[in-house]
Amino acid sequence: MTVADPLAPEAVLLDLDDTLFDHTLTVRAAIVALRRRHAFLRRPSIDALYRGYLARIDHDTPDVAVGRVTPQAARRARWKAVVAECGVTMAAEATDRLADEYQELYRRVARPVEGAPQAIRRLHRTLPIAVVTNHTFAEQEAKLRFLGLARAVDHLVTPEGIGVAKPGPEIYRAALERLGVVADRATMIGDRWDSDVLGAFAVGIAPIWFNRFHLPRPAALPVAEFDRWIPTPDLAALLRARGPGAVGPAAGPAPSRL
Ligand SMILES: [Mg+2]
Repeated sequence: MTVADPLAPEAVLLDLDDTLFDHTLTVRAAIVALRRRHAFLRRPSIDALYRGYLARIDHDTPDVAVGRVTPQAARRARWKAVVAECGVTMAAEATDRLADEYQELYRRVARPVEGAPQAIRRLHRTLPIAVVTNHTFAEQEAKLRFLGLARAVDHLVTPEGIGVAKPGPEIYRAALERLGVVADRATMIGDRWDSDVLGAFAVGIAPIWFNRFHLPRPAALPVAEFDRWIPTPDLAALLRARGPGAVGPAAGPAPSRL
């Protein structure tokens, strides 16, 4: 890829959770560890518990992202609801301690998406990078440090100060401004079709879908996709698969029902 390549992007935007940091498996591992300590959490199945918890996180994300509620308050409210669903009566202080214990375990079992840190450090040798993520700056900055990506990410863009989370156009425009590129010279890589793919697409940034869980493609948009960082995807080819009509090498046909 060279500067003269008219199809090559001049900057890359990246999602963080479940694109670089393995949020889903970290949540699962933390809940598995918590269940070992608290028998009542073994009443629901592990799948029911962690899928339900992930859904609660999704529900809370917009409010946490723009600072309407702190991550800790949202977490404590989630665990209060989980405790109630398990049919357990527990003092408020005890549920707060449970939530804090979960968060300690989450940090302890944290893991990267396999191969992502290495791939991003390589990418950063040739392109400026912004991470655009729907969570608080402090917690996401800590994740970047954990991943060893603090110096490979030029800008960490969160909804705080912007007031709008992905897929809102404002957060994407803020990232472009910090990178100093126009939308059609940038690429966005993320795992969420709604906030990453459609959000980027709406402002003219070419998205690449990191479809790590092999979800069905929700719409027949000309969007490249890949499913793992190892073996290293042909990032140069993926990044060139941009613009109207561009379909990535791994995209395959869109489901006919859509
Ligand atoms: Mg994500």
